[in-house]
Amino acid sequence: MPILETSGLTRMFGGLSAVDELDLSVEEGEIRGLIGPNGSGKTTALNLITGYIKPTRGVVRYQGSDVSGEQPHDLARLGLVRTFQITTLFENLTVRDNVLHGSHLNNPTSLMGALTRSRRYRRQSAEIEDRVRELLAFVGLGERIDAVARDLSAGEHRYLEIAIALAAEPKMLLLDEPATGLNPEEAAYLMNLIRTLRRQGVTVLLVEHNMRLITNICTRITVLNFGAKIAEGTPEEIVGNPDVITAYLGKRRGA
Ligand code: ADP
Ligand code: MG
Repeated sequence: MPILETSGLTRMFGGLSAVDELDLSVEEGEIRGLIGPNGSGKTTALNLITGYIKPTRGVVRYQGSDVSGEQPHDLARLGLVRTFQITTLFENLTVRDNVLHGSHLNNPTSLMGALTRSRRYRRQSAEIEDRVRELLAFVGLGERIDAVARDLSAGEHRYLEIAIALAAEPKMLLLDEPATGLNPEEAAYLMNLIRTLRRQGVTVLLVEHNMRLITNICTRITVLNFGAKIAEGTPEEIVGNPDVITAYLGKRRGA
């Protein structure tokens, strides 16, 4: 059974099909690439799958259940978690506070507990601190816990966003162009991080512009053009596919 399945997934904006009858089936444990030229519907597809926008028609199934129309936080609670193409960090907060505020770890223990600093409150606070440290160590930001987000490099911003996503304990993680703005060294580090996640059992749907990165890391790749799927297969199959090459050489809609 696939962990994620869309059928006939469609989203219109005015007269334009941003996502057009998309059938996508992702097996558990895959690193699936989702690629395509600018404006081909990748971000819209992620938004539809994770509940940020509603489909015009079509269905999203996650772990066998129809989740079309569910809210993002409900899907996150089921383990379907995403990051954004544009950074969503609080630039004036520390790395630690970004994890706390950006995740459910911030769930308040009782106000009374906080006021009296009860033993239970202190224990929960210590557990949360441990978890934050663990997440940051995992993404390589262990030493940066007290740094202010605006002082992080582009790569460190991305690692922090991934730490926040991981706080939700995803079964499936959707990443929207995480390597944008990263230097080659940072991008390589990020790809290793994604591989490690997969080994830990997380299924990944990776939207990425950089063909070399994506062919290196993905088990299979799905290609969109003008919202529709034009190819799907192993990296080798995709790289040699003439339709994909034509799409990337940039034949414009209507041209
Ligand atoms: P990609 O992520 O592949 O670059 P997008 O999913 O962002 O592509 O966009 C797909 C198409 O849908 C583009 O033509 C874009 O202009 C259009 N689009 C995306 N979001 C909206 C929106 N909120 N309103 C109108 N058009 C949109
Ligand atoms: Mg996009």
